[in-house]
Amino acid sequence: MNKRNFLKSLGVLGVAGAFPGVFMGACDVNGSAPACDRIWTWLGVNNDWSDQELDAHMHMLHDQGVHGVFIGGDNERFFLAAAKWGIEAHLWNWTMNRRDAEIMEHHPEWYAINRLGESCFDKPQYVDYYRWLCPSRPEVLDFLVKEVRAKAPQPYIKGWHLDYIRYCDVILPRALWEKYNIVQNEELPPYDYCYCDTCREKFGKSDGRDPLEIEDPAHDEAWLQFRYDSITHVVNTLAEVVHEYGKPISAAVFPTPTIARKLVRQSWDQWRLDMVFPMLYQGFYNESIEWIGDCVAENVAAVENRMEVYAGLYLPDLTAPSDLANAQKRACHNGARGISLFGGLTEAHWNALKKVEKK
Ligand SMILES: [Zn+2]
Repeated sequence: MNKRNFLKSLGVLGVAGAFPGVFMGACDVNGSAPACDRIWTWLGVNNDWSDQELDAHMHMLHDQGVHGVFIGGDNERFFLAAAKWGIEAHLWNWTMNRRDAEIMEHHPEWYAINRLGESCFDKPQYVDYYRWLCPSRPEVLDFLVKEVRAKAPQPYIKGWHLDYIRYCDVILPRALWEKYNIVQNEELPPYDYCYCDTCREKFGKSDGRDPLEIEDPAHDEAWLQFRYDSITHVVNTLAEVVHEYGKPISAAVFPTPTIARKLVRQSWDQWRLDMVFPMLYQGFYNESIEWIGDCVAENVAAVENRMEVYAGLYLPDLTAPSDLANAQKRACHNGARGISLFGGLTEAHWNALKKVEKK
């Protein structure tokens, strides 16, 4: 499977008070930071795996000290295999990017529309699987809530993980410009969403203007904020539902709140999650391993203990085990609760991780 930002008024009390036992604050009652000792990873469901193969994989993750795994599908066999080895298994949910046959067939109007009037339904940008739903449509949110209510109560599902919880990239990470042969020094109409009837009407009611008539949409604070809020509303609604079941919710997000707003309209520092997994994939931004530590420091400061912050590491860009160990060390020394790993790991990588002092 491919994979490539709360209001101050809420504070820690808002989350912890409402959902005791769910929120796993970054500080304990004595105010000291917990160890940076948790490792999470993603795992797609492969039904070809035998029970033995699945068990061996979870056994290996257990032996390597993995704390939790995001499983890409409601497959009880995978969840139970993780549980057998004491690994916390959450459902990995592709949230806004949906090519579900049911939605494609029955609700083409749910898809986001760009500034040229083109829909993600039949004219996806960048890659064929980029089929983004409009976060402002009440029917979309109803669908997502029903999905949570149908799966989150399952006893084997220990938490909910949001991925692709954002708009389509209005600006791609810098290193991808060459890959797609696009120069994106500014927001361009084909990648700028959403201008559907619902978004135009909702924004019009609150602002008085039609988004399509805004001369400089890339710098229009009200129009930008409308879209940040639109995704934030989806996240916080889903968080409330997941919390009803006494389970934690997390999300994979862009590297920092600043970058996330600019590239994909995520104001994730305002989200009511328990954990956040910024994808600090330095190679996508032509950045160094030092940048990973800088992002973690910025993120930890931004969330002010409301959520646990992990450092999402991308293994294909950390091929040398010493690079992975260096990235983990910088994440931990800047206040991360742990790291998450995406991509394949070698035995040498695991050994390198074991040698890092986790504080
Ligand atoms: Zn829309």
